[in-house]
Amino acid sequence: MTHSQLPVAVIGAGPVGLAAAAHLASRGIEPVIFEAGDSVGASVREWGHVRVFSPWTYNIDPVAADLLEGTGWAAPPGDAYPTGDEIVQRYLEPLAGAPGIAESLHLGARVVSVTRQGVDKLKDAGRDDAPFQLMVDEDSEERRYLARAVIDASGTWTRPNPIGAGGVRLPVDGYIEGVADLCAEHDVLLVVDSVICGFGRLGTWFGIERWEDVRPDLITFAKGITSGYLPLGGVIASGRVAAPFFEEPGGPMLRHGATYAGHASCCAAALATLDIYEREDIIPRGQRLERPLLDALTPLTTHPAVGEVRGGVGLLAAVALSDEAIAADPGAVGKVALAARDAGVIVRPLLGAIAVSPPLVVEQEHLEEIAAALRAGLDALA
Ligand SMILES: Cc1cc2nc3c(=O)[nH]c(=O)nc-3n(C[C@H](O)[C@H](O)[C@H](O)COP(=O)(O)OP(=O)(O)OC[C@H]3O[C@@H](n4cnc5c(N)ncnc54)[C@H](O)[C@@H]3O)c2cc1C
Repeated sequence: MTHSQLPVAVIGAGPVGLAAAAHLASRGIEPVIFEAGDSVGASVREWGHVRVFSPWTYNIDPVAADLLEGTGWAAPPGDAYPTGDEIVQRYLEPLAGAPGIAESLHLGARVVSVTRQGVDKLKDAGRDDAPFQLMVDEDSEERRYLARAVIDASGTWTRPNPIGAGGVRLPVDGYIEGVADLCAEHDVLLVVDSVICGFGRLGTWFGIERWEDVRPDLITFAKGITSGYLPLGGVIASGRVAAPFFEEPGGPMLRHGATYAGHASCCAAALATLDIYEREDIIPRGQRLERPLLDALTPLTTHPAVGEVRGGVGLLAAVALSDEAIAADPGAVGKVALAARDAGVIVRPLLGAIAVSPPLVVEQEHLEEIAAALRAGLDALA
């Protein structure tokens, strides 16, 4: 079988995974869909009692609807607001039974790894041409599947965003630009989450300015806007995205409501915080201090329990433990963090790594103190 005859693997049969499968089927491309749960929409079912805030129109993919129409499906009323359970029962379950999808769906099948067939993860030669190989926990055994491409629609309900919470993984050169180009090519909105990387953490207001040619359509932000003292988050929309909502009277309503949206006290805290950022020239410090932080932590690389030190873009970094250290003690990361706290520094244990994200007002002596506390934490493993 040649590479192009292989199916496209879809991880997760939630709203996005099943819609992706419908798009593949509509293009005559065979999908193979793996869903960890016993039924489609397993994550949505977990909050199935909640009524969502967008009506059916926005919950149903148009290509999926086309596929369903051929099955005698009764489309729900577009302006009604479903619960999570209703989304599963009236949309995802019928879609799972539609031709092109039903025969490709594996329930109770959890994808545990994705690699390139026959290519060592440290070698590049031939990587681009090798098919993807998925290891799947299915029917109490580990099965291998080959795919020409993989669409990860495993969602964030069971697996929060790995970029920050997965242990500070830096984007490789060209990654951010590549994502932006791909979005532009397919007219997909580019959404940049600046909750972690904004307000100076990368040395700019929203972090994304570090990639000069990238123009997001939407930026989400929180935390740093008030320095975390009061809860506030927001979304910035580009003119292109905002225009239909505000250009003319009678346009669609921008639904971005929460009970305490725009709370006056939180906004006052934000304004005060922004004043301080400007007055004390805090924002650029995230970039000025990125090298000193990395330099302070890099000597830890020689510690026997350390796999690598990641950092160098903004005032955040991670000290990742070696595979051996974690194999020897699965609780090692937590132990290092506790011992570092005993040494006077609070750090964040994350999936195999200790994340360091100090206040933007730190000085060189504090960076050295962080490194010393981490070393004490690592030594405590011995
Ligand atoms: C309370 C609540 C209300 C919401 N209201 C709205 C709303 O009004 N409007 C709106 O647009 N959005 C709303 N959302 C968000 C929306 O539900 C999600 O954006 C949507 O479910 C995402 O779909 P998904 O397919 O990407 O992920 P999910 O629904 O999370 O589905 C992912 C699927 O992947 C499976 N999976 C995970 N890991 C693996 C693996 N390793 N192998 C195989 N399968 C795996 C999971 O079991 C799951 O079934 C709401 C969310 C919540 C929690």
